[in-house]
Amino acid sequence: MSTGNRAVLKLHRAGGFGTQKINSHWKTSMQSQALPPQWRELQMSARQVRTLAWAPYSGFFVGAALLTKSGEIISGCNVENASYGLTICAERTAVCRAVAMGIREFSAICVTLAGNPVPCGSCRQFLCEFNPEMLVLLDCADHAEETPPECVLLSDLLPRSFQLKSVDLPANPR
Ligand SMILES: [Zn+2]
Repeated sequence: MSTGNRAVLKLHRAGGFGTQKINSHWKTSMQSQALPPQWRELQMSARQVRTLAWAPYSGFFVGAALLTKSGEIISGCNVENASYGLTICAERTAVCRAVAMGIREFSAICVTLAGNPVPCGSCRQFLCEFNPEMLVLLDCADHAEETPPECVLLSDLLPRSFQLKSVDLPANPR
């Protein structure tokens, strides 16, 4: 461990980088967004699909429901694998389903899980590909239904996301 890292660790232990402090800073630094009118349907869909998750190794069940620009809802759950690295998150399952249906325009996604309902870093990047300004509804499955989820912008969850300069999009083969 480098001297610098040791200093950081010491500061962390001394409470300088306490988790609570970081969390409260994170919360106040984000603007809370207005829930989309369909939030209840999105929440229900995410909670429903969560019960279908394949999570025999972690017991961590996650549901996600995408709201497309045309008003459709497409859901997905996490799918684990004995080879852990192959596991795919609920958010990415929903996006892959939508893309395979020919849908790429999304205005919101609801993510529901027990505990702290935030998408992982990989999913934030994956979602950014399609709409960095997407609304993200953070639904805690421990809360009663009808509890409004927290609503944030994807760009607040992943500022300065990785993007390639676009080239003319190739037409899909027919
Ligand atoms: Zn994820």
